[in-house]
Amino acid sequence: MNDPNEQAVESDVPRQTFELEECGFLEVPKKWRKFYRHWGGPGDVLGPNEIICPVCKVVIRSKREIRVGDRLYCMPCMSRMVVVLAEDGSLDTEVIY
Ligand SMILES: [Zn+2]
Repeated sequence: MNDPNEQAVESDVPRQTFELEECGFLEVPKKWRKFYRHWGGPGDVLGPNEIICPVCKVVIRSKREIRVGDRLYCMPCMSRMVVVLAEDGSLDTEVIY
């Protein structure tokens, strides 16, 4: 099983890793479903391995903790993005065109 968001770059602190399970995201082929889920709205909480696609608002999930500089691919809307640090210190994304 290939993670479309597997990253080659490593920093000093090992990343947390996560076991992903399907969350009923049917918009992509079965092989990729566990890497995405629908955002649950207010009250939903993102894990350290999850980030919201700024384009289609789907939650992108990685097997590893997401960090600044990571490049992510959103298969449902085919957007590529890079993870950046928001002003409030949280993780944000910028779409790469
Ligand atoms: Zn998207």
